[in-house]
Amino acid sequence: MKSPIPEYLERILLECRDLDGGTIPEGNSELAKADPDFFGVALSSVGGSIYTAGDVDDLFSIQSISKTLTYALALDDNGIEAMLRVVDTEPSGDSFNEISLEPETGRPRNALINAGALAVHAMVKADSVEHRVERIRALHCALAGRELSVDRAVHEAELAADDRNTGIAHLLKAVGVLGAEPADVVEGYAGQCSISVSCRDLATIASVMANGGISPTTGERLLDAATDRRVLATMATCGMYDGSGSWIFTVGIPAKSGVAGAIIGVLPGQVGVAVVSPRLNAHGNSVRGVAVFERLSRDLELHMMHVSSTGQSAIRAMHDREESYRVELQGDLRFAGAETVVARFTEGFPGRRMIEVDFRHVREVDEAARGLLNESLFRLREDGYEVDVIDPNALL
Ligand code: GLN
Repeated sequence: MKSPIPEYLERILLECRDLDGGTIPEGNSELAKADPDFFGVALSSVGGSIYTAGDVDDLFSIQSISKTLTYALALDDNGIEAMLRVVDTEPSGDSFNEISLEPETGRPRNALINAGALAVHAMVKADSVEHRVERIRALHCALAGRELSVDRAVHEAELAADDRNTGIAHLLKAVGVLGAEPADVVEGYAGQCSISVSCRDLATIASVMANGGISPTTGERLLDAATDRRVLATMATCGMYDGSGSWIFTVGIPAKSGVAGAIIGVLPGQVGVAVVSPRLNAHGNSVRGVAVFERLSRDLELHMMHVSSTGQSAIRAMHDREESYRVELQGDLRFAGAETVVARFTEGFPGRRMIEVDFRHVREVDEAARGLLNESLFRLREDGYEVDVIDPNALL
């Protein structure tokens, strides 16, 4: 059978191709050369499949999308407390290059506007500008699953037009939240923005972030789970700059845009999406990119507030036998799933002495569910039941 998904993506591109509003920014002389009709979409599932349509293998600079993984790296290097001292987690409601610092502390509002991204860049531990950019590039390569390079021409053009970022960096230094010299930070930040990626690379990166930091293709953990969650939370509230509120209202996918016209979207537990098309709207977000995301969200019901009630399906089957009562569990158990199981246990098993709890069809049990289930199994035994736990993968 041929999957219907690529055809669906082709159709979306066709529907959005006529949207020719917006402009290509002129600040960076290399970006200004972009083909305005360049257009691609890629969708990469947490199951490891990738679907594409349009220009998905041509390269462009990652730009502000690099702010997400750089934040992840800085969070891992320094821990959340140290990071909160230099950058807050509030949406700014301002445009991407606004000089928006918190009046009381001097901190940038969040890691995804330029002021925050400059402060975050400086927090990545390194002995030199090159080393810092190299560490950031390496993390992007790991998630993309291939070698990516820094585009020198874009980097130079970026530096030739970086007066505003230079100004912001000096201001950050003045208020004491810049962990390195302004010139070095601006140079390194421009370097991270100049990493060359394709639409396919961005969807692959997004799929790792959607999968809690684990590569869907290799199964390797590439980002700490808590770090991944923090970055996604910031993307949900701040990723689309001053368009963030209406974005999460209508599209509902944590996202990040870049000035080269790409947008990545990460729907936790489901998919990573990337769209690229260079013409930008007044918020600095790709016009066609936004339109594609709106359609994907609507057609495929990808809004993050559209969730399934995993709790109900935690119990796969119950077998009441002469000698024992067997409860078979399944799926990924989190609080709601464990609660369903515990609620069943509280009803008791009249006339039965032996209870079997079967975890063979369970894939994962999170910390909260494990605590709740272990405590409940202990209590069942206290109530006089003989409890046999079938847990060959040691999930408990
Ligand atoms: N390099 C760009 C800048 O700092 C990135 C901005 C963006 O992608 N929105 O101005």
